[in-house]
Amino acid sequence: MRYAVLSDIHSNLVALEAVLGDISEAEIDRYLCLGDLVGYGARPNQCCDMIREFDAVGVRGNHDEAAVDPGRAEWFTAPARYCILWTREQLRPDNLDYLANLPAVEILDDMTLCHGSIPDPGHYTVTAEDALLSFDAMNTSITFFGHTHYAEWFMSQQNGELPTEYPLPTGGRLTLEDGCRYLVNPGAVGQPRDVNEQAAYAIYDDETGEIELRRVHYEIEKAALQMKEAGLPDSMYARLWRGV
Ligand code: ZN
Repeated sequence: MRYAVLSDIHSNLVALEAVLGDISEAEIDRYLCLGDLVGYGARPNQCCDMIREFDAVGVRGNHDEAAVDPGRAEWFTAPARYCILWTREQLRPDNLDYLANLPAVEILDDMTLCHGSIPDPGHYTVTAEDALLSFDAMNTSITFFGHTHYAEWFMSQQNGELPTEYPLPTGGRLTLEDGCRYLVNPGAVGQPRDVNEQAAYAIYDDETGEIELRRVHYEIEKAALQMKEAGLPDSMYARLWRGV
């Protein structure tokens, strides 16, 4: 099977369409979505519609939770809270319902899907110590996660030992080795923060054991203009050009 792994779309339809265009040549069997479909960007319904249309296997992110239950946005920065309350007003009931019913963790064959970490969707997996929390909780060889918006992977060779971190902000390939376990972050489709402004996603082939982290150019101007026209905070689109 060949999987396309998407995370942190954040209502950026322009970036999502660019990624789907890139994927169209890749012969994908199944789509996986690691949460935060919405928040920040200007096209929440269209992004939900597309992911639903592809029948993606998905988990919920902290922004998806806050769109459903605004009480969860209490810890957001003021501009992020503004965006999520705006998003909640825009979302059709069927899309709110879809987000409300996404699980926190999903297991599919030998893969675990989560947003921030397996024990806590809102936890940022940044360091090897953070990664250990998910390695200790996982029962599969691979976990795909998002939330930090950094494209990277962690490898664990021995249970309980600190894993090794491999940042891949410009993309690259990973070949899975027998006996090792992996935590893989495809990066963010809609708001990359690894100082590469291009949209990020991954392709996983479970027959060859290869994971390719890819970066795709998209029209940031167009996505920013949609946000500006929607009255969303300018700090939220200014960062798109800087990839932070
Ligand atoms: Zn996110």
